[in-house]
Amino acid sequence: MSRFFSKKYKNLEAYTPGEQPRDMQYIKLNTNESPFPPSEGVMEAVSAEVGKLQLYSDPESTAATEALAALYGVKPTEVLLTNGSDEILNFAFMAFCDDEHPIVFPDITYGFYPVFAELNAIPYEKIPLAEDFSVRAEDYIGIHKNIVIANPNAPTGLTLTLDEIEEIVKSNPDCIVIIDEAYVDFGGESAVSLIHQYDNLLVTQTFSKSRSMAGARLGFGIGAESLIADLRTIKYSTNPYNVNRMTAAAGLAAIKENEYYMENCKKIIEAREMTRNALLEMGFDVTNSKANFLFAKSEKISGEELYLKLKQKGVLVRHFKTEKIKEYNRITVGTWEQMETFLARVREILAEKEKNV
Ligand code: PMP
Repeated sequence: MSRFFSKKYKNLEAYTPGEQPRDMQYIKLNTNESPFPPSEGVMEAVSAEVGKLQLYSDPESTAATEALAALYGVKPTEVLLTNGSDEILNFAFMAFCDDEHPIVFPDITYGFYPVFAELNAIPYEKIPLAEDFSVRAEDYIGIHKNIVIANPNAPTGLTLTLDEIEEIVKSNPDCIVIIDEAYVDFGGESAVSLIHQYDNLLVTQTFSKSRSMAGARLGFGIGAESLIADLRTIKYSTNPYNVNRMTAAAGLAAIKENEYYMENCKKIIEAREMTRNALLEMGFDVTNSKANFLFAKSEKISGEELYLKLKQKGVLVRHFKTEKIKEYNRITVGTWEQMETFLARVREILAEKEKNV
């Protein structure tokens, strides 16, 4: 830390992204990316924009915003596109939270929420998950604090029902409820259908997972016009051109080719269920994930050892050191073939371990 770093950030612990290794070619199952490339139309749209990079992007991302609004059955004024969904989440923390409006979220969830809170000096509280790692809706009903919940939650993949989300939103009418649906396309129930009924609900989603665009950085929020207007104020006060030309064009093309992406989601769901069943057969505890990842532990090997041994064998998964979940690994669901290789490596590791004891 330099002697110039502002005091206001002295306790800030930055978010640690998953490894993006360059030392060798891994089967990369550690950052919940899609194993499928973007569609043809996206590649063409991006190429077409490259020759116009001397010009700023449309700060409104008009075409992509309109297409997205049509896809979700809302008005363009109820949608805001951002540089990944991390950005809309940060905007929401900035716009709606302060000393008098603290925020709560589960103790085991997306690691960026406490970072956004610290960054913006927002008081926050972590609410413990139930024993089985589920989010207990009743803990949030009538809590009268701002709330952010990932649904499906990360890294467990567990979901709340739409009825439970509605109860939470309805019972906290004077607080903002952010539902982070980064993984909703893999089997969750979206709360977008509730935004016309509740002006305190903000739903965020991303093109990073189900739409194969993690490297392009495109996320969005859907909510009441008044909320979106506030978020636009934050956007125009930080970075009006937050969505670059190539990304906006890619997003528009991806929406036009939505079917391709929804087919890929089906493939990922099939590969997820195949992998989950195989892990259960091997004696693993595996949450009933509705996301593009599995969360699993085995009595036979520690979370860290399995992570390290898989890495030696060229398969990268995500291990968290947090006490409550340190015996688990989060395994992104790749293609069927990648998952078969992953399972073969796990079998080898368990067999080798058995031989040594
Ligand atoms: N929410 C959750 C729960 C996530 O896991 C992620 C991915 N790290 C994000 C939001 C942000 O994703 P992106 O910024 O790529 O849209």
